[in-house]
Amino acid sequence: MASRIAMVLNRQTFEYDIHALIRSFIPMAEIKISCGEEMPEGDFDAGFVVTYEETAVGVVYVPAQGEKQSLSGPITGWNDRIRTKNEVKNVVYRLLCQITGRTLPWGDLTGIRPTKIAMHMLEAGKSPEDTAAAMQELYFTSREKAQLAAEIAGRERKLLGLLHTDEGYSLYVGIPFCPSICLYCSFGSHRLDVYQKQVEPYLDTLFGELGFIAGEMGDRPLDTIYIGGGTPTSLTAEQMDRLLAQICRLFPADKVREFTVEAGRPDTITREKLEVLRKNPVSRISINPQTMNQETLDLIGRKHTVEETVSVFRMAREAGFDNINMDLIIGLPGEGKDEVAKTLAAVQELSPDSLTIHSLALKRATRLNLFRDQYEPVSFENSAAIMDMTEQCARQMGLKPYYLYRQKNMAGNFENVGYAREGKEGLYNILIMEEKQSIMAAGSGASTKFVFENGERIERAENVKDLRSYIDRIDEMLMRKKIGIDTYLRRNKDGGLEKEG
Ligand code: SF4
Repeated sequence: MASRIAMVLNRQTFEYDIHALIRSFIPMAEIKISCGEEMPEGDFDAGFVVTYEETAVGVVYVPAQGEKQSLSGPITGWNDRIRTKNEVKNVVYRLLCQITGRTLPWGDLTGIRPTKIAMHMLEAGKSPEDTAAAMQELYFTSREKAQLAAEIAGRERKLLGLLHTDEGYSLYVGIPFCPSICLYCSFGSHRLDVYQKQVEPYLDTLFGELGFIAGEMGDRPLDTIYIGGGTPTSLTAEQMDRLLAQICRLFPADKVREFTVEAGRPDTITREKLEVLRKNPVSRISINPQTMNQETLDLIGRKHTVEETVSVFRMAREAGFDNINMDLIIGLPGEGKDEVAKTLAAVQELSPDSLTIHSLALKRATRLNLFRDQYEPVSFENSAAIMDMTEQCARQMGLKPYYLYRQKNMAGNFENVGYAREGKEGLYNILIMEEKQSIMAAGSGASTKFVFENGERIERAENVKDLRSYIDRIDEMLMRKKIGIDTYLRRNKDGGLEKEG
């Protein structure tokens, strides 16, 4: 399939959505966007010419060789941008299906949160069946994916009902250190051995930021706490103890519905650290194998063994953890159906309380992408059959899907799905995806999210990613946060939420 593609529009409207759709069919395409009505000069393998009119949109596919193909569709009115965007995407999608002879599991949906659409429909009073049918009709979503989205949104709705979504908040704490950097990492984590000296100044700054958040939020209900990163358990047991003590001193940590610590890399977990987590009110941890194939672990730069994963998991159970999540990645280099089956069998044996299946996303900044040439001989495989296998395995383990998101450039255009035993769902994950509650975030690269009007409007206050800048410029970031928090709290007051209590 063509790789250098021209995209020409007579009006610069919905160009990112059309771009994303073309990339969904042709993932590695280089797409050059321009304004006009004709194919531009240049060495292109193909082009798409989009012509908007008052009541219609037309799209012409122009290959370097061979016949042009075209489709058009109605535009019911430019005053409703969302509806118009869907109409345009419908036409582009149908044309791409015609050209490639393929359909996509999520149809013409390009956003990362398809369950939000299902959630809106359920909130508007549709039944799960009608929601799934509407997604198939409106977005060409496959029956399986539409049903999955409706099932998940239904479960999420119930769980969100347990939380103070309007007047409460959740807390995220970032620890941006890892023992080594995985080949596919896009989180901007720092190698602990290289940045060792920054850990203490980082923690001091973080404690200050946490104190600031606690002071500003006062006695608003806190529903969930999530310590992520990086790998929080890269800290020493003593540092972790100090961090958790600080959180417990500042926030009502023993009253929250969920307190998660990403224990992530098995090579960072020790009995002593597990004891520190246990003596604090941590209710959920994540131990992430990613794969149970040693060869792949070595290739992707995770410096732990399969045996270590098994032994720390057992150690965590012995320590009394009854809510352990495991993350797996599908589409890792060199892994196909057999390797994934082996991983699933090993995980099934351990029987975690929740399982998150990630599809590998090739983000631009990851080492895997930067050194792509180097890994060319290794295949990247992900398929509907593999994704089905993971779903079947999770369901066999008694786990049900409870949250889902997609990423751009995802291998095979699939999704990430979290499965859990009833009562063991990661509430914070749902909040991140459905954007139904404000999240105060502390740490470098952490993004505070203010949610207004049941998720209709979102505002963010971002912290810088660079460690040194985070430490040096914390006052500036606190100032930004203060403006955001003041606006958010004022809205709550004006919006009558205070009166409800
Ligand atoms: S463990 Fe996670 S955060 Fe750390 S390097 Fe690997 S992918 Fe990045």
